[in-house]
Amino acid sequence: MGPEAMQAPPSTGLAPSSSHNGAAAPATPATPSSQRPANMEPNVINVVLGDLLIKPWYPSFYPEELVGRKIERLYVCQWCFKYSKELIPFLGHTKVCPLKEASPPGAKIYAKDSYSIHEVDGEQHKVRYGFYPTSQHARQLTSCAQLYSQNLSLFGKLFLDTKSVFYDVTTFLYYLLTSTNPTTGARQVIGFFSKEKMSWDNNNLACILVFPPWQRQGLGQMLMGISYELSRREGRIGGPEKPLSELGRRGYTAYWSATIARVVLATPGKNTALTLRDLSDSTYILIEDIVATLKSMAVLEHRPASKKGGGAVEDAVLNKAKLRRWALEHGISLIPPVDSGAFVKEGERAEQVQSLE
Ligand SMILES: [Zn+2]
Repeated sequence: MGPEAMQAPPSTGLAPSSSHNGAAAPATPATPSSQRPANMEPNVINVVLGDLLIKPWYPSFYPEELVGRKIERLYVCQWCFKYSKELIPFLGHTKVCPLKEASPPGAKIYAKDSYSIHEVDGEQHKVRYGFYPTSQHARQLTSCAQLYSQNLSLFGKLFLDTKSVFYDVTTFLYYLLTSTNPTTGARQVIGFFSKEKMSWDNNNLACILVFPPWQRQGLGQMLMGISYELSRREGRIGGPEKPLSELGRRGYTAYWSATIARVVLATPGKNTALTLRDLSDSTYILIEDIVATLKSMAVLEHRPASKKGGGAVEDAVLNKAKLRRWALEHGISLIPPVDSGAFVKEGERAEQVQSLE
């Protein structure tokens, strides 16, 4: 059997790109498997990604005709995320995968050290079955964007609790986190976040995942930083889609507190005169998220008996000494997780896109 035996997902109604409970920052599952309700048990027991064996956390959305009620092992290509339950077709595919030697699909928007971010439009070109048919390598890469997004979403669903919300990939942008091995030059996507193209709530992120083998390295914080930097470039203050999962809440609380701490500590003065609006304007974090974060950091001090009465945040001031102590205790680095100078300039992005046509 050739690589064609690798399964392609159905062309419609797919794409679990998340929603409720989107954000899973580096961490362990919110619910240990022993406490999980039976219908939340993963139906793919082990997934093989390239040469890594990983235990899924949640039920998959892989087609039931493929995985049935339960499957012991599913093989997933580490470059294009196509999948197979058979080892031989999987190995055959990995020899000829069109993305093996290529960049991930989409345009590179950010590059720093050994990490880069590619932006993929889930709508770009329709799926062509019997894909990769032409001799033009570049055309192959763009024509597979939708299929790629679907397969990436299916893999991500193994680690995301999406409450059976299905979305069409065509309404989302996908931001792929790629790691390059400095010695071998081998590239691999190790996480991603998705973002609705049209969000009435200005949501800057729908779903975030760093694949389990790469968690606990601060990469979730980097993806969140990218999502806020994109908001800044669009001039729209927003945040992740809510409600957040427990994991998402923890990851975002860490991101918001560290970001706020950096801004406050970089502002001269004892108890700074920064208002919530100032903080929001400089971080692009929603005021409601800033308020919740400052409360959780316990760095607010209430003014003595104002006319309005104490208790409200408006009557509180930030205690910079407390915040500095908080930052020291939590080992907050003054260097942000994202380097705004490492974004690829618009002009260079346009060139990349043209070279794909
Ligand atoms: Zn592949």
